[in-house]
Amino acid sequence: RDLTMTFPGKRTRSGRKSPGIKAVDGVSFDLGAGETLGLVGESGCGKSTTGRMIVRLLEPTSGSVSFDGADITHLKPSAMRPHRKHLQMVFQDPHSSLNPRQTVARIIADPLLVQGKSVAQARARAAELMELVGLIPEHIDRYPHEFSGGQAQRIGIARSLATDPRLVVADEPVSALDVSVQAQVVNLMERLRRELGLAYVFIAHDLSVVKRVCDRVAVMYLGRIVEIGDKHEVYDNPAHPYTKALLSAVPLPDPAAERARERITLLGDPPSPASPPPGCTFHPRCPRAQDVCRTERPLLRIGMPGERREVACHFPY
Ligand code: SF4
Ligand code: MG
Repeated sequence: RDLTMTFPGKRTRSGRKSPGIKAVDGVSFDLGAGETLGLVGESGCGKSTTGRMIVRLLEPTSGSVSFDGADITHLKPSAMRPHRKHLQMVFQDPHSSLNPRQTVARIIADPLLVQGKSVAQARARAAELMELVGLIPEHIDRYPHEFSGGQAQRIGIARSLATDPRLVVADEPVSALDVSVQAQVVNLMERLRRELGLAYVFIAHDLSVVKRVCDRVAVMYLGRIVEIGDKHEVYDNPAHPYTKALLSAVPLPDPAAERARERITLLGDPPSPASPPPGCTFHPRCPRAQDVCRTERPLLRIGMPGERREVACHFPY
């Protein structure tokens, strides 16, 4: 609810303090058990920071995170322990998020040892998890550098599953991988979701990546959600000009449809979150911007009657 993260400003050489950067500015959403939300937007839009606040790797500046009806926002580590195992994270770059000096057995089993399992139990479970994610259990005593990027990400996924989590926040889990293996890892995560009844917050900068895995999708721009809705609502009929632009960058398989559709090219780069534009923060890049957009901030509200989708735009659709 209303998650906000302000990173403090640095002190400049003249001794003045630069203003803080609001990386996330009032993000709210609900996620049901076994549901999957895609969190999409360009780099720097606050999606990773949002993901880290959800699993409590970062404490929000304001706002709250509830899990299973309990407010976990400010819990001390001891009070957090019973929730910890249910909230796990998969990171973007598998090789840098795995300790190069630990064997796969150790990497995957570590969360179980922390929970008090014996070494033999943890090792057996690690071998099971390797099989579950499509790795060869006999490779359990190898080190991360002996695996390809795609395999290393499978190790990261296995580690995230060791404690039987209910929610996995996956922060761009395939962005660092070769295009040829991205689909395999997405398919694996989709299968695990079905088989284990997991809920995901699946972070990506590209709408095409989350399409297969997600029930709902939220599009972020400069720290805020600008559109959130059921996958079909958003993909079939995007309401926010920014969502339209992101979607028009995804190639369509049918060449006739590809020729016929409206292309939206964004002007310029996203502005710095240190000095967001007034009104609708998207207005300097928006092909549809009117005067009101430069002064009044559009709030997130239901798009059309009968939809669950919410959109923050004065002139949606
Ligand atoms: Fe574009 Fe205006 Fe909508 Fe912002 S509020 S996205 S500037 S049309
Ligand atoms: Mg990121």
